[in-house]
Amino acid sequence: CGIVGYIGHREAYPIIIKGLQRLEYRGYDSAGVALFDENGIHLCKTKGKVAELNKKCKKELNTQAKMGIGHTRWATHGEPNDTNSHPHLSNSGNLAIIHNGIIENYESLKIELEKRGYIFTSDTDTEVLVNLIEDVQKKEKVKLGKAVQIALSQAIGAYAIAVYDTQKTNEIVVARLGSPLAIGLGENEFFIASDASPFIEYTKSAIYLEDGETAVIRLGKDIKIRKIKDDNLVKPYIQELQM
Ligand code: GLU
Repeated sequence: CGIVGYIGHREAYPIIIKGLQRLEYRGYDSAGVALFDENGIHLCKTKGKVAELNKKCKKELNTQAKMGIGHTRWATHGEPNDTNSHPHLSNSGNLAIIHNGIIENYESLKIELEKRGYIFTSDTDTEVLVNLIEDVQKKEKVKLGKAVQIALSQAIGAYAIAVYDTQKTNEIVVARLGSPLAIGLGENEFFIASDASPFIEYTKSAIYLEDGETAVIRLGKDIKIRKIKDDNLVKPYIQELQM
């Protein structure tokens, strides 16, 4: 189970594929990638190894996108298959999420969302989370960062997540509790990963998100870190990596 993300000026796909391969040691049964450009979300995923993902997606994903997210899944809810692989989209198709970890109360959240008309295509706890975020956005009319905070306050479990919103095309929101998440800071580019190995060749500056924190990563802006359950900004602690 690993997470990789990129926003910047380079082509995102090769960075994501190589990054996922560096995280293979963490173990996984399926993999997927979503690329973001002016035409929206380009999704490609498969059961099996990152090498198979690359074989399938190299042809399928016809974009030079400078932004995207990738995931290796260690199935906890729902068998390893293409549909249950991440990224998962929300019902409107506007949100894409990758998630490592478990949402323990996903069943009760799912029942509530189904009552409100949401439809689920996978068996994962993750698809519940992305639709919960969408539901909060609709109900509360808040920005993505705040919607993630509110949704996660209702979730019990462990997670590292990255979320993209087609309505906010220069930004990725991340959060963690119990699963690791590092942000690499480059020149006009950001990297997201479960550990620094996917981005160490591009930058030595990194922020390791603390448990219970969320970050809004926006191109051309400083990273905004907050506690999930609090609106005050947390001062980022930037580490210079040695390797
Ligand atoms: N619980 C999620 C799933 O089963 C994420 C698993 C993981 O950490 O890769 O899809």
